[in-house]
Amino acid sequence: MISIRRYLLKYLISVLTLGSLVIAYFIFFHARDEINELYDNNMVDIAATLESQMSVMPFAGKGLLGPSQRVKLNREEEFLVEVWSKEGESIYRSHEHIHFPLQSGRGQFITQYDGKDWRVYSLDVPQGVIQVSQPQHARDIFTRQMALQLLIPMIAQIPLIGLFIWLTVGRSLQPLSKISSAIHARSASSMEPIDSEDIPVEVLPMVQALNALLERLEAALQAQQRFTADAAHELRTPLTALQLQLNLLARSKSAESRETAIGKLQTGIDRATHLVQQLLTLARLEPEAITRAHKVVSLTEIAKTVVEQQAQQAAVKNIDFGLNASGTSKITGDAESLRILIGNLVDNAIRYTPEGGKVDVELYSAEGKVTLNVTDTGIGIPETERGRIFERFYRVNAQQGDGTGLGLSIVSHIAKQHDATVEIISNLKGGTTFRIAFK
Ligand code: ADP
Repeated sequence: MISIRRYLLKYLISVLTLGSLVIAYFIFFHARDEINELYDNNMVDIAATLESQMSVMPFAGKGLLGPSQRVKLNREEEFLVEVWSKEGESIYRSHEHIHFPLQSGRGQFITQYDGKDWRVYSLDVPQGVIQVSQPQHARDIFTRQMALQLLIPMIAQIPLIGLFIWLTVGRSLQPLSKISSAIHARSASSMEPIDSEDIPVEVLPMVQALNALLERLEAALQAQQRFTADAAHELRTPLTALQLQLNLLARSKSAESRETAIGKLQTGIDRATHLVQQLLTLARLEPEAITRAHKVVSLTEIAKTVVEQQAQQAAVKNIDFGLNASGTSKITGDAESLRILIGNLVDNAIRYTPEGGKVDVELYSAEGKVTLNVTDTGIGIPETERGRIFERFYRVNAQQGDGTGLGLSIVSHIAKQHDATVEIISNLKGGTTFRIAFK
């Protein structure tokens, strides 16, 4: 599992270490150049001083040796100073035990001696030659020490910075632990928003998204509770009716009254079955997104099966019932849901149209958009009721017919799932048109 703390620590420490090394590298080379320049100037100064002293205090003896007994030049401030006569004899050498031959070159230069680089300044004077020299490594030791002295505190601070990062990140992640303990502590039904006070801006979008989800969940939960309560309430009416009809059947003495009671019981059972079926359909449509994948379907084909299925129902009422489809009617959707949608509209149209009326299912497309019209010559829907008829269990006239008040609620759900709009159009000659416009 990824740990932000460890991730930050690992990368920041790596970058810091790498950065320190890069800085040390540049410091080393820059310091080396500066030190070389400084000590090269020193060599020139030493030679110049010696020259001026020699003019006032000429060397008397031969092979004069300086006081230094050192066998190696390891200190950056130490130089080997030698003076040769015009004849090439050594007149003076600052270090008794260190030998460095007279170089043929003059001025400032670097030469190789004994496998090492030497920096030399050679000056011709009236008495001979003054040669000031120093091995390069004496200066490099100093440069390295300087770079190291800078690098050590830089490296030493890295663990401190690491500790600081560890603690700071831990502290900044505290709101997350606070949120998770707040979530842990709540009950399954608690949909209260998570307190977003004192939450860092980086975490705020997550808390806001979580709160939005909680809000949606609460709405869904409430809708489900309402649905269950409504369903239970609505089921009570047909069940009470069944109970009454059963009592009637039990008390009926003659065969004729028994037959009438059985008939009524049958109708009651049919109504209850229809209600349960509608409830089931609605419950299945309840989830926000339809689970079945949408496919390209032909609305004409679906409408044809609906018309075939309901033709008998229309014929009983002597209703002129037909399908009129033109153009392409292909849309992306779920065939079963669309069959329910057309079926409910047609069922309503037939039920709310008096005997001898007319019900038309019409399908057409314009600019690639398919429209479905279900038109009847029935009782019509008052303007004032149109806003409510899509609500669950709402019926304009509760006493009328054997409806459940769920059909249009199902239609509106399915239309929404297919991104379609539902419109009610009044017919001049009475009756209603339900228009479903697909996008
Ligand atoms: P129901 O099972 O009662 O038909 P719906 O949800 O399908 O339930 O319809 C709700 C109400 O809308 C119905 O009770 C009815 O009053 C009215 N309604 C629906 N369709 C029509 C229609 N084609 N003509 C007249 N009224 C209709």
